[in-house]
Amino acid sequence: MVVVLDTVSATPLRPRHPEKVNRPDTVSPPKPDWIRVRAPNSRGYAETRNIVKENKLVTVCEEAGCPNIGECWDKKHATFMIMGDTCTRACAFCNVKTGMPNALDSSEPDHVALAVSKLGLRHVVITSVDRDDLADGGADHFARTIGAIRLACPATTIEILTPDFLRKPGALEQVVAAKPDVFNHNLETVPSRYLTVRPGARYFHSIRLLQRVKELDPTIFTKSGIMVGLGEERHEVLQVMDDLRSGDVDFLTIGQYLQPTRKHHQVMRYVTPDEFAGYETVAYSKGFLMVSASPLTRSSHHAGEDFAKLQAARAALASS
Ligand code: SF4
Repeated sequence: MVVVLDTVSATPLRPRHPEKVNRPDTVSPPKPDWIRVRAPNSRGYAETRNIVKENKLVTVCEEAGCPNIGECWDKKHATFMIMGDTCTRACAFCNVKTGMPNALDSSEPDHVALAVSKLGLRHVVITSVDRDDLADGGADHFARTIGAIRLACPATTIEILTPDFLRKPGALEQVVAAKPDVFNHNLETVPSRYLTVRPGARYFHSIRLLQRVKELDPTIFTKSGIMVGLGEERHEVLQVMDDLRSGDVDFLTIGQYLQPTRKHHQVMRYVTPDEFAGYETVAYSKGFLMVSASPLTRSSHHAGEDFAKLQAARAALASS
């Protein structure tokens, strides 16, 4: 049995996921040929890394061990994770550190805005850990971060990837009022896998959250994503598409789940590129404005280019 220590951020060393220490190890099947990523060693990657470190920022790219980091950081695309590096939930798929987080850093919104400016980002993605310990779930901090970026970089479009705010009253409304350009909230998996994969969340609450964003501000694009390879059936994925469309969600992402450590949920299956292409075709037929479905699709992968396509798709729909 292995114990996974936090070598990314912790001093002294501590288990990165204390709640998973006593779980049995599970080993996923070897990765197939179609899951290949570039090693992170380019000059652009090093420059992005320096800006992240200088501004003491946390990125989901590092914390989640994202396979696309070499490609994204080479192009100066980093996804900032606000409100610390420690999550109050303990999802079975996620590599973000778990435990009791520190108090919020009130200067963080300005540091994020500065980094966005230094990186020259036309489109930025901001996500966060779950902060169930905060009275507003972190809604005010999200809103302040959006405000700081708007002030420092008025031409930059802003995409947020939020937790569910644990149904805290007024939290969602406060974030929507800050007017992000894209509001993303991931379902992560099909409803039958929630108890095992995402036990702290409720599927229909997440659907309702996305629907509510559109009701509050129809100009905001809404987006959601799932991972496949966690034991779901194809018909369940198709049902998720219908549920998201019933909430008027614009953009769907589907990517292959990869196991971060032996303590995390096992990969049950590697979905083939052809199956991903099939999901993409079906999703478009169900009315999504944008769909990205491939083994290495992640919520924030190519987010800038995809935002431009979203705008074009909406404009085409309006003029048809
Ligand atoms: S896909 Fe998203 S999380 Fe992964 S490296 Fe790119 S920006 Fe970061």
